[in-house]
Amino acid sequence: MGLVIIGLQCKLVRSEPFISGLTESEVQPFGMDVLKYKDKYYQISDQRIPYHRDKTEDDRFFILTLFGIANEIEANGAYIPSIMRVQLAVGLPPAHYGAQNEKFIQYFSRRGVVSFTCRGKPYSICIDDVACYPQSYAAAASMLQALTTVPLALVVDIGGYTMDYIRIKKGRGDLVSCDSLENGVIMLYNKIISKVRAAQDILLTEEEIDAILRGQSVQGLQVVVQVVERGATKEIFNEARHPYTWALLNSVPALATESKQELYALKGTPPDLILPLNHCPFAARCEYCMGICREQMPEETTLSGTHKVSCWLEHPNAPKVESFYDRRKK
Ligand code: SF4
Repeated sequence: MGLVIIGLQCKLVRSEPFISGLTESEVQPFGMDVLKYKDKYYQISDQRIPYHRDKTEDDRFFILTLFGIANEIEANGAYIPSIMRVQLAVGLPPAHYGAQNEKFIQYFSRRGVVSFTCRGKPYSICIDDVACYPQSYAAAASMLQALTTVPLALVVDIGGYTMDYIRIKKGRGDLVSCDSLENGVIMLYNKIISKVRAAQDILLTEEEIDAILRGQSVQGLQVVVQVVERGATKEIFNEARHPYTWALLNSVPALATESKQELYALKGTPPDLILPLNHCPFAARCEYCMGICREQMPEETTLSGTHKVSCWLEHPNAPKVESFYDRRKK
């Protein structure tokens, strides 16, 4: 028997990652990219499987895994026409890890010899070992050796449905200080799509959202993107000057953030983009807002060769304020 070691969730070892969407049919669909398992046919789809806290509720995540296993076997040149032994490394959001890891391991490992056909080729596999890791810990796996000399590190793993974080103390994961916020990239896309649909009656796609965020034009839409602060990484993380940047930095968990502690979220609503905007777009949501902020658009101030900010607080006559991001750091 051949042996294939496969990492899932964090990264496939050799083959390309794919969208975690699946369509099922009773009859063979058109196309080659088809997997047949237990007399049903499956294809990878752009329609992602909705977020499930418990991925073992049905066979869908297992079938997605079969696609991954077939891809990985082919990418490794490890195919043999008899039973192939497979060892899997899988991940779970750290907040659910303690309660679900045994069940998740059994979900993959208690199946004996699994036979399926992928792209017309028959596979017989036996999953004889499954290692389950907290997702953010798995994301840092390649750096754990280097982290043994670091007293405290925070690993943030931004996934599709959850944003997971875990504190690492001298290279060892601290499961007391971890969490899974249901705030992954797909959730954020969905929030944008439903807000824009409710407010403007426009149905955006994820590709259109990406284009808008990059300031690119989108057919049929007036794209309004305003960069209010730009700078080198150190300038943004250590010397941010715009209240919106402070708000974004405040919404990221810090080393001292307790698990379950609520993170900062902006209050209020963004400006109506249908109306002409001739003042600071952040005015209605800014705790430092002054009269001029509601009357005129701030000009861009150059702080260094790379650091630029557009805020009336940079005006020589503006009051000197302490950012709420600095307050939190104290
Ligand atoms: S210009 Fe005024 S409202 Fe806008 S971010 Fe600066 S202080 Fe806040």
